[in-house]
Amino acid sequence: MIFDVVTMFPGMFAGPLQDSILARARRSGRIAVRLHELRRWGVGPHRVVDSPPYGGGGGMILRPEPVFGAVDWIREAYPEPNERIVLLSPQGSRLDHPTAERLARYRRLIMICGRYEGVDERVREDLADEELSVGDMVLTGGELPALVAVDAVSRLIPGVLGRAGAADDDSFADGLLDSPYYTRPEVFRGSRVPEILLSGDHGAVARWRAEKARQATRDKRPDLLDRQDGP
Ligand code: SAM
Repeated sequence: MIFDVVTMFPGMFAGPLQDSILARARRSGRIAVRLHELRRWGVGPHRVVDSPPYGGGGGMILRPEPVFGAVDWIREAYPEPNERIVLLSPQGSRLDHPTAERLARYRRLIMICGRYEGVDERVREDLADEELSVGDMVLTGGELPALVAVDAVSRLIPGVLGRAGAADDDSFADGLLDSPYYTRPEVFRGSRVPEILLSGDHGAVARWRAEKARQATRDKRPDLLDRQDGP
């Protein structure tokens, strides 16, 4: 999976990509993240990437020429037919597990990070295949949402997580939340690890986990059960 990210601030990506699972996935070639600084396609000698909105109002809007220019360049330099162009936006559809699974089936995602008051609407209308949000709040830019999407999609790519099928046990993979986990010590500040987890009876542990996963879903996210049971 290749992520081509169009951003004003490529420096924001360094930390999250250089440690742990994403760093290993990049080293092994299972994922690649290419950062494209928008200013390179800025307009005029000053490489302007933003302008005030027509009709007035505060703030600046990312102009269409640099964004289209960046995406055209990426597609020409690295042709990839199985791709999706994603505009990060608080107005997009919510990034969730099914969306991450769907995106993981592409070979390349081009991700456009907005800034300031947002991006000229023609980017959404004429360039992006979809608009994706990480939640009903407004962030200062699309860089953190893009990183969230890179992380959520990458861990679904075979081989990225150390153990095969590791993502299958996690919350949302089967429509339920994950079961609770305990580790050492057996007793901590008077609170004991449930006896069944120490029993060595794998069947009983699996049944306990299945029941606890259902209970966690009932308690914390009953909407997920409604979706599973259908109308
Ligand atoms: N004026 C816009 C609005 O109210 O819909 C918000 C612009 S926001 C300050 C600047 C950029 O941050 C957006 O263009 C988008 O790329 C990114 N962004 C902010 N919140 C986001 C979210 N919840 N999900 C995805 N991207 C977001």
